[in-house]
Amino acid sequence: MNILVTGAGGFIGHHLVKRLKADGNRVIAADLKWPEFEPTAADEFFIGDLRNLEFCQKLTRGGIDEIYQLAADMGGAGFVFTGENDADIMHNSAQINLNILEACRINKIKKIFFSSSACIYPLFNQEDPDNPVCCEDSAYPALPDSEYGWEKLFSERLYKSYERNYGLQVRIARLHNIFGPLGVWQGGREKAPAALCRKVALAENERAIEIWGDGRQSRTFLFIDECVEGIIRLMESDHSEPINIGSEELITIYDLAQMIIQTSGKTLGIECIDGPQGVRGRKSDNTLIREVLSWEPRMPLIEGVKITYQWILQQTSARGL
Ligand code: NAD
Repeated sequence: MNILVTGAGGFIGHHLVKRLKADGNRVIAADLKWPEFEPTAADEFFIGDLRNLEFCQKLTRGGIDEIYQLAADMGGAGFVFTGENDADIMHNSAQINLNILEACRINKIKKIFFSSSACIYPLFNQEDPDNPVCCEDSAYPALPDSEYGWEKLFSERLYKSYERNYGLQVRIARLHNIFGPLGVWQGGREKAPAALCRKVALAENERAIEIWGDGRQSRTFLFIDECVEGIIRLMESDHSEPINIGSEELITIYDLAQMIIQTSGKTLGIECIDGPQGVRGRKSDNTLIREVLSWEPRMPLIEGVKITYQWILQQTSARGL
């Protein structure tokens, strides 16, 4: 197949391109930037801005069978939950999705995948770190805790509208905290697993690392390979409603930090400091994906943590940090 991946210079998009190529597809890719840590596997890679409709139209001309839309203005808690980037997050990501869908309509694209997020789930269901509720049908009445989540919810509805009115087939995944090698690990947009791996890798033995909040906030984390597998299985299915792709292995940020410290072999303390944290608890509910895809992620968190820590350790030493 001829497949277009937008956001292919980013973490998930880059891994997805590799997998689609390995599966024998012809892959066209687009992003504002090249992948940061290794060359792209795409057959053609277009650098450009998806906020520009003409660029989106150009990409979707000439026999594209399917699109995977991963581009968004996004980052971890330090980028999404401070409020400082809200206008850019909403404007840029909404503009990208508006343009891509319009280009799909104009160029008669048949099928598109959209990467939504666990951040769409309502705040009031995620106040208990031991028992967060994130089943797909709990999205409404809506109260996401961030503008990032509101944009994703708006865009889910936008994709469904293009399906209803223009016959575009859509597949929508609500991704839950994806992590792994080749992801951003410094600079302010990194997420908790990468940030904690970096802090541990850089810490001197017998010292302490800092974590944001009291550490009791809980999450589930999904290793990148399983995320890509879930996305491809969803695309091949006939399920067109939003669906969770995540792990059900719930862990507090404190315990995640401990897991990474143990992986490193160092002796380090943990100091809780003020910082953006997001909701108190968030966990993928995999009831629907088990039913619809007869599949769910199985890899234990510790295995992904070991791989990711080793990669970030290499990154820090390669830079002489
Ligand atoms: P990422 O930031 O690594 O990748 C996003 C890519 O989009 C970047 O390479 C960026 O340059 C590109 N982009 C942004 N604006 C653009 C524009 N105007 N034109 C062209 N390209 C543009 O993020 P990721 O972790 O790979 O996430 C991919 C998708 O999955 C995003 O839509 C994100 O919201 C969603 N998602 C990710 C996670 C996660 O844990 N990583 C969780 C839920 C949802």
